[in-house]
Amino acid sequence: MRPGIDILRLDAIHPLLSGNKLFKVLDALERLPDPQALVSVGGVHSNHLHALAAIGYHCGIPVTGLVRGYANVELTPTLADCRKLGMQLVFLDRQQYRQRYEADFQQYWAQSLGAVWIGEGGALAPWQEASVDRAEVAGTSKAAQALAELCGGYDQVWLATGSGTTARMVLPVLPAQPRLMLVHTVADQGELETSWRTSYPDGNYQFVDSCDMPFGRLSPELRELLERYDALGLPLDPVYGVRLLAALEQWLQTQSGVEPRILLVHGGGLQGRRAVGLSWSGQATIESWLANPHLPASSVPVR
Ligand SMILES: *Cc1c(COP(=O)(O)O)cnc(C)c1O
Repeated sequence: MRPGIDILRLDAIHPLLSGNKLFKVLDALERLPDPQALVSVGGVHSNHLHALAAIGYHCGIPVTGLVRGYANVELTPTLADCRKLGMQLVFLDRQQYRQRYEADFQQYWAQSLGAVWIGEGGALAPWQEASVDRAEVAGTSKAAQALAELCGGYDQVWLATGSGTTARMVLPVLPAQPRLMLVHTVADQGELETSWRTSYPDGNYQFVDSCDMPFGRLSPELRELLERYDALGLPLDPVYGVRLLAALEQWLQTQSGVEPRILLVHGGGLQGRRAVGLSWSGQATIESWLANPHLPASSVPVR
């Protein structure tokens, strides 16, 4: 990588309380403070559920995770951690899981658990947002502002998108100059990009062509890239970070002339490395949390 490219290591904030998932959940908690409980949804390797379980443990908030899968199958490392951290896991079959974007389904779970619904992408549901004075708080959460402030002073800020929630959170508060360069990591037939064009016709962003990158699996080429960065001391997650770096490398090859000042946002998600047989160093932190039950969760320093 050439000089002039900086990396915002959201993964390095803390082994468990970190990544873009931390900022999204903090954003939601700022808007709906002091929830009795939280309920959310995700897959068996979900970075989102993992972060939510850690935050729930840390803050003493009961969390339920609705998971696509079966209770009688061995838990993935991700879900095993979630359970250790006190998350109640409820397994849904494919048909039930498909309803996760529907307000009826969300309200059913929120009401029956007395919980705030947090969407799969970490955002509050629209019906839930209606219950807060959104006009007053939209884009002004401390979490959104903290993240946006870190992005000042660059020409471009590169971000991997899944649901696009993180990008949506920072776009309105980003200092004027950097352009958001979005690398989409989900095969959705351009749905996210289309919805952004409608929602933010004048926004300073672009979707970077991720060319023929395979979605949904770690190809040999992507694994090689990931291992190359491991050797350089930059651990990446196998879904988002690896595609972000692949897209940036590709893009840099097509550029000549003026070199923009680039900030690459490392979104964390390193716990997901275990899904593809790679190491993750955060496990020890879970064990130490659990071994020190007298340590008030809120005294665990977040650096
Ligand atoms: C979830 C995740 C993303 C995508 O975030 P969205 O807000 O869903 O777009 C990017 N990078 C990492 C490491 C993630 O875990």
